Amino acid sequence: MMLTELADVLRRAGLPAQEVAGWQTRGHGPMSSVSCVVLHHTAGPATGEAPSLATVTTGRPGLAGPLAQLVLGRSGTWYVVAAGLSYHAGVVFEPWQGNAHAIGIEAEATGVDAWPPAQYASYVAGARALADYYGVPYSRVLGHREVAAPAGRKVDPNLDLAAFRAALSNVEDDVTAAEVWTAPIRNAFGDTVQAAQILVGTEHRVADVQRGLALVSESVGDLAQRIDGLSAGGVDLDALAAKVADLLAQRLAA
Ligand SMILES: [Zn+2]
Repeated sequence: MMLTELADVLRRAGLPAQEVAGWQTRGHGPMSSVSCVVLHHTAGPATGEAPSLATVTTGRPGLAGPLAQLVLGRSGTWYVVAAGLSYHAGVVFEPWQGNAHAIGIEAEATGVDAWPPAQYASYVAGARALADYYGVPYSRVLGHREVAAPAGRKVDPNLDLAAFRAALSNVEDDVTAAEVWTAPIRNAFGDTVQAAQILVGTEHRVADVQRGLALVSESVGDLAQRIDGLSAGGVDLDALAAKVADLLAQRLAA
């Protein structure tokens, strides 16, 4: 599978997402599944929005890019790098944690500095949106240092990962009913509409079906009346039988 919905999933969560040209076909082949989300930091330069973006996209000596599907800039903007398999996890403890099953997120950070609040909030919201869309339990949103084998091989990301996962579930303050009602979602025709419009469209379709049923009911009633007409003297079966018998008798007598 190619993860060509990545940009839409992030935008639907209200997050800014920039698409790196060619991302929809970039990858070391397709993904086998999405079974986990692996969080990284780039350990890149100390300043700049996303100075590691080019490296994550095209690779570094000895390791061809893409090196993750997504880069998270310091402003909280997401950069969509690849829809296919990316080399970010390396050797892992469990098969489902491997590159063929894991969305990799490289957050731009030195690994020693504090996280800008906007970037951290976007990291949580984006990871939540991805986990929700691909059906990944929040317990499988994991730091690289948690999946990398042998233990201690990686230190990234420098986040309290238990707190990060707890924040994934803590959405009460983030979404209001009005936001859900007006959320942009795709309808059956691929158009982006608000959730409320889908409901109105469904009501119209139900009304169409009800009108169709009424027409069928009328036709059935009409048919029943005709049958009643036949048995109520439209055809006199006794007279018909008598006539047939009469004709037979005449033929036999001839
Ligand atoms: Zn890493």
